[in-house]
Amino acid sequence: MNLPSSAPYVVVGAGIHGLSTAYHLAKELRARGGGSGGDVLVLDKSGPGAGASGIACGVVRNNYFQPAMSELMQACVEVWESDPAAYHYNPVGYIALGPPVQEPDLTTVFERHERIGYRSELIVGADVVDDHMKTLFPDWRARGVTVCLHEHQGGFAFNMDSVRGLVAKCESEGVKILSGVEVLELEDAADGTVRTVVTDRGRVDVGEQLVIAPGPWAKHFWAMLGLPATIDIRTPTGDVVRDQPMWTYWNLQEGEIRVDPTMFAKADGGPPPVIHLDTDAPLYTDDGQLVTDELWGIYYKRDRHGVQGGASPLTVSGDVELDPYPQTTNVDPGFADMWCAALSHAMSRFEGCRALYATARSGGVGAFTADNFPVFDYLRPNVYAVLDSNHGYKMIGVGREVAKVVLGDHSTLLRPFRFERFETGDLHPVSHSPYPWS
Ligand SMILES: Cc1cc2nc3c(=O)[nH]c(=O)nc-3n(C[C@H](O)[C@H](O)[C@H](O)COP(=O)(O)OP(=O)(O)OC[C@H]3O[C@@H](n4cnc5c(N)ncnc54)[C@H](O)[C@@H]3O)c2cc1C
Repeated sequence: MNLPSSAPYVVVGAGIHGLSTAYHLAKELRARGGGSGGDVLVLDKSGPGAGASGIACGVVRNNYFQPAMSELMQACVEVWESDPAAYHYNPVGYIALGPPVQEPDLTTVFERHERIGYRSELIVGADVVDDHMKTLFPDWRARGVTVCLHEHQGGFAFNMDSVRGLVAKCESEGVKILSGVEVLELEDAADGTVRTVVTDRGRVDVGEQLVIAPGPWAKHFWAMLGLPATIDIRTPTGDVVRDQPMWTYWNLQEGEIRVDPTMFAKADGGPPPVIHLDTDAPLYTDDGQLVTDELWGIYYKRDRHGVQGGASPLTVSGDVELDPYPQTTNVDPGFADMWCAALSHAMSRFEGCRALYATARSGGVGAFTADNFPVFDYLRPNVYAVLDSNHGYKMIGVGREVAKVVLGDHSTLLRPFRFERFETGDLHPVSHSPYPWS
């Protein structure tokens, strides 16, 4: 397909956000009689799913301490549930387990779930948590866990399959998706709007609006828009912390063991929920070596060829060469030992699984904002940015909200994610989780 010289709506990035935005925009245009998918052009320098969306573990959950994240995630789960077949969504649920320090946070999350009508269950106390887990998995044996938030919604989706599902939905609405088109520059008009997108295959004039959804390449687009590399942040107490880097990179460590996936099933034979376990119980390998006696955590899910998951990410100092994506950078050499020891700590069925650890296409780098929460906002009068701070494969519903905003509506769900929060001090509350995205 040739590069058109103009399009009313241009979307950069064919990951979960760019594609969801394009699809919902096409649907909205048609529903409002204001156009069609033919007015929407998606550009990607590689192709659909070439970025973080194509390697995401695929976990969909609503264990968020921040009210705005929880409310937005509820809307996203609604989108996943709207067409599980097309999105390859497995609504198996999600279980978060933690030590005493996490009890207040998970209780707060649960109480909000109750208020907003998101189906979950809270269990507090070491013995009752153990009973709950043993009913599901008789070989459960994790220690140091006193709180369990069992989400009966959520689960996981298969990363590339869901991207392909969105591509099909876009195409059914007539959206044009062009792969192998790299955006090099955004040309400004005198009023600050971006009227031309300069690519390695030519120029595209933007008739109405430009949406950028560049995933880990957020910092590149930030610079293209002439935005500052460091910012001042007003904290909720009113203090101002100066010169904070707007973007940092973390390496998400993930891996898998090759086993018959059905060995990870519930006692009743059903598919297991995604498990996220944090504990401060000492962690040993199966042959008795101490891995850590500090707080540690893992997550894991049943995959097509085994069991896949990860652990806490590692910060990467300075800049990162992202291409070809995903670059493997700053991987802890002890990751496989730790993750397998942790699986075995959780369930005896995983004893000895270190020998089954597979080197696979798992893990990769994500770009995080100055407060580790997304920026969903206009950065120019006609440029809307979907910069999700690596929260966002699960956030398939953000595109539905962005589509409405682009067509002139207001989104109460996206408002808490405006860039201005760093200046006004309307930051999101921080939980006790060791992860940067909780
Ligand atoms: C290892 C890993 C595991 C993860 N697991 C989960 C998980 O379990 N659950 C969850 O919710 N989230 C997870 N995430 C986060 C999630 O994957 C991302 O937040 C989300 O996929 C970002 O989607 P996106 O559409 O913004 O970006 P991407 O999917 O990265 O898409 C951006 C696209 O922009 C294109 N692009 C970049 N620069 C240009 C340019 N100059 N011109 C044209 N195109 C360009 C790229 O080719 C790419 O296709 C994980 C992330 C990683 C790295």
